[in-house]
Amino acid sequence: MAIQGVCPKCGKRVLHVQVESIVGVVDGQSKARCLSYSCIHCRSVLGVQIDHRRQVRPRRTPAPAPA
Ligand SMILES: [Zn+2]
Repeated sequence: MAIQGVCPKCGKRVLHVQVESIVGVVDGQSKARCLSYSCIHCRSVLGVQIDHRRQVRPRRTPAPAPA
């Protein structure tokens, strides 16, 4: 099945997306880690979502030891 998705700005097929870790800000405060997906050709943001796996400020749970 061929990939049909095209970038709404540059019209190229979205075969790859640039994934960036960004911070969701609410009322000037960093609230959540988010991920943005950008076209690799023109860098238009195609979508953003909250990264549920990461938290800016974990509550009461000690940070896990680095692997
Ligand atoms: Zn594009």
